[in-house]
Amino acid sequence: MKKHNFYAGPAILPEEVKRRTSESLLEFAGMGLSVMEISHRSEQWVECMNNAFSLVEELLDIPKGYKVMFLTGGASSQFYMSAMNLLNESEVAGYINTGTWSAKSIKEAQLFGTVKEIGTSKNKNYSYVPRELDSDDVKYVHYTSNNTVFGTQFKELPNVDVPLIADMSSDIFSKNVDIKRHNLIYCGAQKNMGPAGVTLVIVKESALGQVKREIPTILDYRTHIDKGSMFNTPPVLPIYISMLTMQWVKDNGGVNAMKVRNEAKAHLLYSEIDRNDLFKGFVAEKDRSTMNACFGLLDDSKKDIFLEMSKEAGIVGINGHRSVGGFRASMYNAMEIESVEVLVNVMKEFSEKYG
Ligand SMILES: *Cc1c(COP(=O)(O)O)cnc(C)c1O
Repeated sequence: MKKHNFYAGPAILPEEVKRRTSESLLEFAGMGLSVMEISHRSEQWVECMNNAFSLVEELLDIPKGYKVMFLTGGASSQFYMSAMNLLNESEVAGYINTGTWSAKSIKEAQLFGTVKEIGTSKNKNYSYVPRELDSDDVKYVHYTSNNTVFGTQFKELPNVDVPLIADMSSDIFSKNVDIKRHNLIYCGAQKNMGPAGVTLVIVKESALGQVKREIPTILDYRTHIDKGSMFNTPPVLPIYISMLTMQWVKDNGGVNAMKVRNEAKAHLLYSEIDRNDLFKGFVAEKDRSTMNACFGLLDDSKKDIFLEMSKEAGIVGINGHRSVGGFRASMYNAMEIESVEVLVNVMKEFSEKYG
């Protein structure tokens, strides 16, 4: 039976990407070897790597003065690496706390300078995006563009007049981004870009080289910029699969087309959540994420019944995060609207039976 993959991450990949990956696992670029077996210095791999860089630049319309890197350690490593490279001990960084991931980024940044929480939605279990921000005297403002756990998303950039740093792990390539307002953007690949194992980092080069501390070579962004992300052996397979996924985004109209697709899917699901008397959304309407919809039943005792009906329809991965409860439906780029239709039909069927 066809599966409808609503997992939050690692998450759905396009069929075409999985097919091409499986071919390259056996035979890559006519070399008679697997993509996993070749030297990362080979001409064929270098071409792949260059393709991956070009696709990021093209899809996100990266302006001059910005550098793209493929690193390891996940978005979690960027929580400390960003502050280590961009914040002096004596300086203050502004952080917007929208839950789990931003809280973790705050904890790590505190090791390198002073963190000022300039906005938080903690008072309502992170169910909205804070808008009253006081960015006086901060060097930059860090925000999590899409809150994978709580299902909120910044629909506009934070209203501050200092450079931004963004964790875009769960909505990169889902829409256009004004790169110029940012000094740094990072994301773990395994939500909307590829499989786990590679982290995309985009940095404004002129923001680097301004901290006084010694930075270990491999943790210094400048090392990876100089070496084209091949200072040490790069995660070849995750980069390759991410490259194919970006190519798929491009072939399907680029990020603007993804945005239209994603909004259509989100509209379909949220409309049913609002229409259906048995369900409720957890997030303030204007801050609802197009990527992760968090919702629940008014009568939580029927949760298992709904999960069982979903399972029978081929739906996987909609159990909510333990800190939120209810359900979470992740609808990343690769998800077809048909899968959301299947979920909505189960919700309708459920309300006919139990409403
Ligand atoms: C998943 C996620 C992370 C953690 O990513 P890792 O690659 O596992 O370190 C960080 N931030 C956001 C917004 C996420 O969704």
